[in-house]
Amino acid sequence: MLSESDLSRYERQIMLDGIGIKGQEKLKSSKVLVAGVGGLGSPAAYYLTAAGIGTIGLADFDEVSLSNLNRQILHATNDIGRFKIDSAAEKLSSLNPDVQINKHCIKLTYENIADTVKNYDVIIDAVDNFETRFLINDSCYFLQKPVIEGAVCGFEGLLMTIVPGKTPCYRCLYPDLPKEKSFKGIIGTTAGVIGSLQAFEAVKLLLGIGEPLFGRLLIFDGLNSSFRVIDWSKKRSCPLCGENATIKNPAKY
Ligand SMILES: [Zn+2]
Repeated sequence: MLSESDLSRYERQIMLDGIGIKGQEKLKSSKVLVAGVGGLGSPAAYYLTAAGIGTIGLADFDEVSLSNLNRQILHATNDIGRFKIDSAAEKLSSLNPDVQINKHCIKLTYENIADTVKNYDVIIDAVDNFETRFLINDSCYFLQKPVIEGAVCGFEGLLMTIVPGKTPCYRCLYPDLPKEKSFKGIIGTTAGVIGSLQAFEAVKLLLGIGEPLFGRLLIFDGLNSSFRVIDWSKKRSCPLCGENATIKNPAKY
Protein backbone atom coordinates (compact mmCIF):
# COMPACT_ATOMS: atom_id res chain seq x y z
CA MET A 1 0.00 0.00 0.00
CA LEU A 2 2.91 2.40 0.61
CA SER A 3 4.59 3.71 -2.55
CA GLU A 4 8.34 4.05 -3.07
CA SER A 5 8.01 7.74 -2.42
CA ASP A 6 6.07 7.08 0.82
CA LEU A 7 8.84 4.79 2.05
CA SER A 8 11.34 7.52 1.43
CA ARG A 9 9.27 10.46 2.74
CA TYR A 10 8.36 8.71 6.00
CA GLU A 11 11.64 6.78 6.42
CA ARG A 12 12.59 8.45 9.68
CA GLN A 13 9.27 7.68 11.39
CA ILE A 14 8.80 4.22 9.86
CA MET A 15 12.01 3.19 11.67
CA LEU A 16 10.30 3.86 15.01
CA ASP A 17 9.10 0.79 16.92
CA GLY A 18 5.60 2.14 17.47
CA ILE A 19 5.08 2.98 13.79
CA GLY A 20 6.78 0.74 11.19
CA ILE A 21 5.24 -0.04 7.79
CA LYS A 22 1.94 -1.13 9.33
CA GLY A 23 1.60 2.04 11.34
CA GLN A 24 2.41 4.20 8.34
CA GLU A 25 -0.24 2.35 6.33
CA LYS A 26 -2.70 2.98 9.15
CA LEU A 27 -1.92 6.71 9.05
CA LYS A 28 -2.36 6.71 5.28
CA SER A 29 -5.83 5.21 5.60
CA SER A 30 -6.83 7.58 8.43
CA LYS A 31 -9.00 10.68 8.23
CA VAL A 32 -8.66 13.60 10.60
CA LEU A 33 -10.80 16.73 10.74
CA VAL A 34 -9.14 19.93 11.90
CA ALA A 35 -11.90 22.28 13.09
CA GLY A 36 -10.47 25.79 12.90
CA VAL A 37 -7.40 26.66 10.85
CA GLY A 38 -5.98 29.34 13.12
CA GLY A 39 -3.35 29.34 15.86
CA LEU A 40 -3.87 25.71 16.93
CA GLY A 41 -5.14 24.30 13.65
CA SER A 42 -2.12 25.58 11.71
CA PRO A 43 0.59 23.56 13.48
CA ALA A 44 -1.78 20.62 14.01
CA ALA A 45 -2.63 20.38 10.31
CA TYR A 46 0.99 20.96 9.29
CA TYR A 47 2.30 18.06 11.37
CA LEU A 48 -0.57 15.74 10.46
CA THR A 49 0.14 16.44 6.79
CA ALA A 50 3.86 15.89 7.27
CA ALA A 51 3.16 12.63 9.11
CA GLY A 52 1.17 11.29 6.16
CA ILE A 53 -2.41 11.19 7.46
CA GLY A 54 -4.20 10.13 4.26
CA THR A 55 -7.13 12.53 4.45
CA ILE A 56 -7.30 15.81 6.32
CA GLY A 57 -10.46 17.89 6.52
CA LEU A 58 -10.27 21.61 7.25
CA ALA A 59 -13.34 23.38 8.63
CA ASP A 60 -13.25 27.17 8.79
CA PHE A 61 -15.24 30.03 7.27
CA ASP A 62 -12.97 32.89 8.24
CA GLU A 63 -10.64 34.99 6.10
CA VAL A 64 -7.00 35.69 6.86
CA SER A 65 -6.29 39.06 8.49
CA LEU A 66 -3.03 40.77 9.39
CA SER A 67 -3.53 40.31 13.14
CA ASN A 68 -3.77 36.51 12.64
CA LEU A 69 -0.21 36.24 11.45
CA ASN A 70 1.61 36.28 14.80
CA ARG A 71 0.36 32.73 15.38
CA GLN A 72 -1.51 31.24 12.41
CA ILE A 73 1.54 29.91 10.62
CA LEU A 74 -0.28 28.29 7.69
CA HIS A 75 -1.03 31.78 6.36
CA ALA A 76 1.30 34.39 4.94
CA THR A 77 1.09 38.14 4.36
CA ASN A 78 -0.05 37.75 0.76
CA ASP A 79 -2.93 35.52 1.92
CA ILE A 80 -4.69 38.40 3.70
CA GLY A 81 -8.32 38.47 2.58
CA ARG A 82 -8.36 34.88 1.33
CA PHE A 83 -10.37 32.14 2.98
CA LYS A 84 -8.22 30.40 5.56
CA ILE A 85 -9.07 26.97 4.19
CA ASP A 86 -7.82 27.98 0.72
CA SER A 87 -4.60 29.41 2.07
CA ALA A 88 -4.12 26.41 4.37
CA ALA A 89 -4.92 23.78 1.72
CA GLU A 90 -2.38 25.34 -0.63
CA LYS A 91 0.45 25.19 1.94
CA LEU A 92 -0.43 21.67 3.04
CA SER A 93 -0.61 20.34 -0.52
CA SER A 94 2.71 21.93 -1.28
CA LEU A 95 4.25 20.21 1.75
CA ASN A 96 2.70 16.85 0.91
CA PRO A 97 0.75 16.49 -2.36
CA ASP A 98 -0.20 12.89 -1.52
CA VAL A 99 -2.51 13.96 1.31
CA GLN A 100 -6.15 14.44 0.34
CA ILE A 101 -7.27 17.82 1.74
CA ASN A 102 -11.04 18.30 2.09
CA LYS A 103 -12.18 21.90 2.43
CA HIS A 104 -15.29 22.63 4.49
CA CYS A 105 -15.87 26.38 4.21
CA ILE A 106 -18.54 26.48 6.89
CA LYS A 107 -19.27 27.69 10.36
CA LEU A 108 -19.97 24.49 12.29
CA THR A 109 -23.55 24.51 13.53
CA TYR A 110 -26.07 22.17 15.09
CA GLU A 111 -27.46 21.54 11.60
CA ASN A 112 -24.24 20.70 9.72
CA ILE A 113 -21.87 19.19 12.27
CA ALA A 114 -22.99 15.55 11.99
CA ASP A 115 -22.56 15.56 8.21
CA THR A 116 -19.18 17.23 8.51
CA VAL A 117 -17.60 14.94 11.11
CA LYS A 118 -19.18 11.62 10.10
CA ASN A 119 -16.43 10.56 7.68
CA TYR A 120 -13.51 11.31 10.01
CA ASP A 121 -11.80 9.09 12.58
CA VAL A 122 -10.58 11.84 14.91
CA ILE A 123 -11.56 15.48 15.36
CA ILE A 124 -9.02 18.14 16.35
CA ASP A 125 -10.85 20.90 18.20
CA ALA A 126 -8.89 24.02 17.30
CA VAL A 127 -11.70 26.56 17.37
CA ASP A 128 -11.48 29.93 19.09
CA ASN A 129 -14.82 30.18 20.87
CA PHE A 130 -16.71 28.32 23.59
CA GLU A 131 -19.96 27.96 21.63
CA THR A 132 -18.34 25.84 18.91
CA ARG A 133 -16.23 23.99 21.47
CA PHE A 134 -19.36 22.87 23.33
CA LEU A 135 -21.08 22.06 20.04
CA ILE A 136 -18.16 19.82 19.01
CA ASN A 137 -18.00 18.16 22.44
CA ASP A 138 -21.73 17.45 22.59
CA SER A 139 -22.11 16.33 18.97
CA CYS A 140 -19.04 14.10 18.99
CA TYR A 141 -20.26 12.48 22.20
CA PHE A 142 -23.44 11.36 20.45
CA LEU A 143 -21.60 10.53 17.22
CA GLN A 144 -18.96 8.53 19.16
CA LYS A 145 -16.05 10.46 17.63
CA PRO A 146 -12.83 11.06 19.58
CA VAL A 147 -11.92 14.73 20.04
CA ILE A 148 -8.51 16.19 20.81
CA GLU A 149 -9.22 19.36 22.74
CA GLY A 150 -6.69 22.16 22.81
CA ALA A 151 -7.05 25.65 24.20
CA VAL A 152 -4.62 28.52 24.64
CA CYS A 153 -4.57 31.89 26.31
CA GLY A 154 -1.60 34.19 26.70
CA PHE A 155 1.39 32.06 27.64
CA GLU A 156 -0.64 29.05 28.79
CA GLY A 157 -2.41 26.14 27.19
CA LEU A 158 -4.56 23.11 27.94
CA LEU A 159 -4.80 19.75 26.24
CA MET A 160 -7.06 16.75 26.73
CA THR A 161 -8.19 13.76 24.69
CA ILE A 162 -11.84 12.81 24.79
CA VAL A 163 -13.09 9.39 23.73
CA PRO A 164 -16.88 9.12 24.18
CA GLY A 165 -17.88 6.34 26.55
CA LYS A 166 -14.30 5.93 27.75
CA THR A 167 -13.04 9.24 29.11
CA PRO A 168 -14.59 12.28 30.78
CA CYS A 169 -16.02 14.83 28.36
CA TYR A 170 -15.40 18.58 28.10
CA ARG A 171 -18.51 19.27 30.17
CA CYS A 172 -17.11 17.19 33.02
CA LEU A 173 -14.62 20.06 33.28
CA TYR A 174 -16.82 22.98 32.21
CA PRO A 175 -20.50 22.02 32.67
CA ASP A 176 -21.76 25.15 30.93
CA LEU A 177 -20.78 27.98 28.64
CA PRO A 178 -18.66 30.54 30.50
CA LYS A 179 -20.20 34.02 30.48
CA GLU A 180 -17.20 36.15 29.58
CA LYS A 181 -16.46 36.52 25.90
CA SER A 182 -13.44 38.74 25.65
CA PHE A 183 -10.60 38.43 23.19
CA LYS A 184 -7.48 37.58 25.12
CA GLY A 185 -3.88 38.06 24.17
CA ILE A 186 -1.84 35.20 22.77
CA ILE A 187 1.71 34.63 21.63
CA GLY A 188 2.13 32.25 18.69
CA THR A 189 4.56 29.94 20.44
CA THR A 190 1.88 28.92 22.96
CA ALA A 191 -0.45 27.88 20.14
CA GLY A 192 2.51 26.17 18.43
CA VAL A 193 3.15 23.95 21.47
CA ILE A 194 -0.47 22.96 22.04
CA GLY A 195 -1.34 22.55 18.33
CA SER A 196 1.67 20.26 17.83
CA LEU A 197 0.64 18.21 20.85
CA GLN A 198 -2.88 17.90 19.44
CA ALA A 199 -1.41 16.37 16.27
CA PHE A 200 0.73 14.07 18.43
CA GLU A 201 -2.31 12.89 20.43
CA ALA A 202 -4.18 12.18 17.18
CA VAL A 203 -1.28 10.09 15.84
CA LYS A 204 -1.08 8.12 19.12
CA LEU A 205 -4.81 7.52 19.10
CA LEU A 206 -4.83 6.36 15.47
CA LEU A 207 -1.88 4.02 16.00
CA GLY A 208 -2.91 2.83 19.47
CA ILE A 209 0.51 3.66 20.89
CA GLY A 210 1.71 5.34 24.06
CA GLU A 211 -0.53 6.85 26.69
CA PRO A 212 -2.94 9.40 25.26
CA LEU A 213 -4.38 11.95 27.69
CA PHE A 214 -7.38 9.82 28.67
CA GLY A 215 -8.85 11.30 31.85
CA ARG A 216 -5.78 13.48 32.20
CA LEU A 217 -5.53 17.18 31.63
CA LEU A 218 -2.23 18.65 30.47
CA ILE A 219 -1.52 22.22 31.51
CA PHE A 220 1.31 24.09 29.80
CA ASP A 221 2.84 27.17 31.38
CA GLY A 222 5.13 28.76 28.82
CA LEU A 223 6.59 31.45 31.07
CA ASN A 224 7.55 28.86 33.66
CA SER A 225 8.60 26.29 31.01
CA SER A 226 6.50 23.65 32.75
CA PHE A 227 3.97 20.96 31.94
CA ARG A 228 1.63 19.63 34.59
CA VAL A 229 -0.69 16.66 34.09
CA ILE A 230 -3.62 16.33 36.45
CA ASP A 231 -6.17 13.56 36.70
CA TRP A 232 -9.55 14.54 35.47
CA SER A 233 -12.43 12.19 36.10
CA LYS A 234 -15.96 11.75 34.86
CA LYS A 235 -18.40 13.88 36.82
CA ARG A 236 -21.49 12.07 37.98
CA SER A 237 -23.33 15.35 37.67
CA CYS A 238 -22.12 16.02 34.11
CA PRO A 239 -25.10 17.25 32.06
CA LEU A 240 -23.86 15.31 29.01
CA CYS A 241 -22.25 12.04 30.14
CA GLY A 242 -23.31 11.94 33.82
CA GLU A 243 -25.84 9.69 35.53
CA ASN A 244 -28.79 12.03 35.08
CA ALA A 245 -27.75 13.68 31.85
CA THR A 246 -30.06 16.46 30.74
CA ILE A 247 -28.59 16.98 27.28
CA LYS A 248 -30.16 14.50 24.90
CA ASN A 249 -29.19 16.25 21.69
CA PRO A 250 -26.35 18.55 20.71
CA ALA A 251 -27.50 21.86 22.14
CA LYS A 252 -28.42 24.73 19.84
CA TYR A 253 -26.40 27.84 20.46
ZN1 LIG B 1 -19.08 14.65 30.84
